[in-house]
Amino acid sequence: MKHLAVAVFSATLAIGSLATAPIAHAQQTFVNIGTGGQTGVYFVVGQSICRLVNRNTAEHGIRCTAPSTGGSVANLNALRAGEQEMGVAQSDQQYNALNGLGAFANAGPMEELRAVFSVHPEPFTVVARADSGITTFEDLVGKRVNIGNPGSGQRATMDTLMEMRGWSRGDFALASELRAAEQAQALCDNRVDAIVYVVGHPNGSIQEATTSCDTRIIPVTGEDIDQLVADNPYYAVATIPGGMYNNNPDDIQTFGVGATFVSTTNVSEEIIYQVVKAVFDNFDRFKRLHPAFEGLQEEAMTTNGLSAPLHDGAVRYFTERGWM
Ligand code: GLU
Repeated sequence: MKHLAVAVFSATLAIGSLATAPIAHAQQTFVNIGTGGQTGVYFVVGQSICRLVNRNTAEHGIRCTAPSTGGSVANLNALRAGEQEMGVAQSDQQYNALNGLGAFANAGPMEELRAVFSVHPEPFTVVARADSGITTFEDLVGKRVNIGNPGSGQRATMDTLMEMRGWSRGDFALASELRAAEQAQALCDNRVDAIVYVVGHPNGSIQEATTSCDTRIIPVTGEDIDQLVADNPYYAVATIPGGMYNNNPDDIQTFGVGATFVSTTNVSEEIIYQVVKAVFDNFDRFKRLHPAFEGLQEEAMTTNGLSAPLHDGAVRYFTERGWM
């Protein structure tokens, strides 16, 4: 069975100080990576990639920035609009953008979309207040739930689940649209009963939600979830390891996606080659930049969860390394 391995790791979450690169290359090419909320993992993916790229700006001339964004769907839309050169996106949203489905139905297929590599697994994560009475995913009905900001991957995946179960926003006592970085606080302030986040573990947001107040992580299981995983290659069953978070001693069963790094045919082979090279030539260093990267394996990252064709720059590097 497909299974997302989430490493147990309890290191402090720190991205460290950003490297500064010498300004020596005559012409600099600025590239922008779309990430997610500041307490998630995408932000660290983007910051980490840029940190490695910018160490060699003097040689290749590429200068990389990775601001916080609304998440996967916002990143894919910004790539399509030419506002970003690269971005992080959930595997289900990569597939939907490529094929013009779900959140991308109006925009149509994104033929220029290219996969670069996959990153960490992202379980669909539901956290509920202990006093809410919520113990299963079904129990969300009638409760105050943060279903995620439009533009986030969790919102798009939640929309898929709601459609599958025949739920509408009116089935919740409140369906708020707070951004990922705001939701742990809203949960602990008792403004919502539950939050959903599709995110790598461990991460700062779920740490906040499980240490600042009394909460539990809720399993997301059922025959329809099994069917969803069986029907779609970009979903897999997932486990959030017991003991990773405060007050959550047992393994929690759910399903999930993979985080993927994407670009488009409008970005040159050379730029993507240099970005991929910066990551994989310094892979051990990259892996140390966030505990959610702990289980990453280089060769698996060339295929896992990728549905768009690989970018030419990635193909060049992977071929050089003998991975394809
Ligand atoms: N999976 C989330 C999204 O697509 C982002 C998670 C993160 O920021 O790490 O919006």
